[in-house]
Amino acid sequence: MTRRRPAASGAADSAGGAAEAAAERGQAEANPLDGRSFLLELRHKGAVAQALSRFVWLLAVPFFSVWTLLGSSWLWSVRAETPQCMPTETHFWFAAFWLGLSYIWISIYAALGTVAATLEWRVRRAEGDLRQIEDADVISRWGQVSRLSGYQELPTSQGQGLTPADIRKLGEATLLLDEEAKISGELECSICLTSFEAGDKVRRLPNCSHTFHKSCIDLWLLRSADCPLCKRGVVCGSNADRSR
Ligand SMILES: [Zn+2]
Ligand SMILES: [Zn+2]
Repeated sequence: MTRRRPAASGAADSAGGAAEAAAERGQAEANPLDGRSFLLELRHKGAVAQALSRFVWLLAVPFFSVWTLLGSSWLWSVRAETPQCMPTETHFWFAAFWLGLSYIWISIYAALGTVAATLEWRVRRAEGDLRQIEDADVISRWGQVSRLSGYQELPTSQGQGLTPADIRKLGEATLLLDEEAKISGELECSICLTSFEAGDKVRRLPNCSHTFHKSCIDLWLLRSADCPLCKRGVVCGSNADRSR
């Protein structure tokens, strides 16, 4: 099979994200403790990185938060009930200063944790969408695309594409031998740059009639609601149409 030729067109950049992702995955594996994303990423590759991430979120942050609250209540009760036990006023303010720093640390980690959880939720939603369009054809052409290594593989245009249900409504066809020449002069799919062959499952976009492999255009449409060739909106009322 000559299907997996390297993609060169702009359209392939997006739909071929799976191949790029594999390369990025390789880089991430090479440097699992990359400081920029370590705390925001909940899907680490290496066992050490995964263990460290769990230690931070499941043990260190909860323990430190409880410990800080406990310390605050102790300091408060000493101040209110037994001030004679505090040697000098400076001791009180010293403890209060460190508690203040601890609350700042906890706030920063709470914010990072919220962002990390939101990103993980978006990754799972994207994987769910990909699973719905991932059939044997998609797997043979692009590999298993529904398993993302982390939030860095999320499309930058998330939310601009069609839902899997919308994509299914577009209708598909299987090419017959004598139909190959009829695809309005298109001899190859502009996403994977592979010639159409009899038996290929294809989709013809309703507004512009451009034709692509079903497995190629479906991945594109999840990210973008316009035709990769002419940029016309795929369905009436799609994001691409609305933006005009
Ligand atoms: Zn294709
Ligand atoms: Zn088009």
